[in-house]
Amino acid sequence: MIPIGLMFHHFRDGGRHLAGQGAISADQFDALLDAYADRILCAREWRERRLRGDLTSGEICLTFDDGLLCQYDVALPVLQARGLTAFWFPYTGPLAGAPDRLEIYRYFRTLCFPDVDAFYAAFDGFWNGTRWRRRILKGLSDFNPGNYLSEYPFYSEGDRKFRFIRDRILGREAFAEVMDSLIDTYPFDPAQARRNLWMDRRQLRALHEDGHIVGLHSHTHPTRITDQPFDEQKWEIDTNAEWLEKTTGDAPDCIAYPCGDYDGRLLAYLDARGIRIGFQSRLNDASDPMEVPRLDHVLAMDSLNETSIAKGP
Ligand SMILES: [Zn+2]
Repeated sequence: MIPIGLMFHHFRDGGRHLAGQGAISADQFDALLDAYADRILCAREWRERRLRGDLTSGEICLTFDDGLLCQYDVALPVLQARGLTAFWFPYTGPLAGAPDRLEIYRYFRTLCFPDVDAFYAAFDGFWNGTRWRRRILKGLSDFNPGNYLSEYPFYSEGDRKFRFIRDRILGREAFAEVMDSLIDTYPFDPAQARRNLWMDRRQLRALHEDGHIVGLHSHTHPTRITDQPFDEQKWEIDTNAEWLEKTTGDAPDCIAYPCGDYDGRLLAYLDARGIRIGFQSRLNDASDPMEVPRLDHVLAMDSLNETSIAKGP
């Protein structure tokens, strides 16, 4: 059995941390850990044994992407009660005062709309009245929801269309222009959102000191890092590494690729920087320690409701 990671993003608590798409509660998290209990290792043990090629029975590790405060507030106490440690992969833009807009947008969507489809409807209605209308309509003529992001089976057709417009038609800057104008039409405070969204340096340092592993996830979290000029890719990695080392006192030696995106050139650069373990964002049968497959917690939750959980991938 190939060793994999379980991948977590959003948690909810009925208060400060909202119940957005895919967000799970402490109780749901606890039940998921129960289901995998005999296979979960602490992060440092998992890392050492993975590097030795010594994980032969499908032992898994727990991973938390994006440095989200909801993970620290909701998931960490559950881990502590079980004596478990995990991998944490924060992007560091928010620490430097440059928060990721995508996360702010997600928060906006959760706070201001009853569900994600209501947001998609508002988004579609809004861009129709912007200068990007023709470009989007033209781009959508090439969109086939059956082919786009088909490796992520849990995305709805609306999810796929939204991501196609965001990543393939508009790109980062134009998408931000559309979203920021949309947000301006709602009573929403991005600064308040920022304070609720990300861990600070003190919290990241505490994780490291408690035996967790804090690794790379880029500085600004590009959705397709390998589309960027290589100098910018290196800057993403180097800046992220500097912030983490400044925060924990140790140079990181693991990475979770932002949005699961990497290629041979990026791998060679990471290797030269001493990065030893890399995590993908999906399951496959890759066996290299720089391409560790991960099971998204959304899929893990689904299989929890079926009977196949003990089998794993
Ligand atoms: Zn991420």
